[in-house]
Amino acid sequence: MNRLIYTHENRLLVELAKSKLEVAGIPVFLKNEFAQGGAGDLAPHQTWPELWLERERDYERALQLLADAEAEQVSWRCRKCGEENGAAFDFCWNCQHLHSP
Ligand SMILES: [Zn+2]
Repeated sequence: MNRLIYTHENRLLVELAKSKLEVAGIPVFLKNEFAQGGAGDLAPHQTWPELWLERERDYERALQLLADAEAEQVSWRCRKCGEENGAAFDFCWNCQHLHSP
């Protein structure tokens, strides 16, 4: 059985997730890849691109891989005090040091 593993309104994020899983050797495919723009009467989320697994048994592993990838993206470590900060913040919450990627 195929199984939906990930969907997001931002097609780039879905493609990023796809390449993460492909690198790990998990067979995946996209649905609704080109659906955006012609949404018509559909609710927006119904036209989000979807990332599907070829094999349902890969689900747990794929979920873990995506969670790891997300953890890498959503935080940064302050160079001054070493504190971990969310990606949404430009300044360290602890010492107000400006984050420069
Ligand atoms: Zn800091």
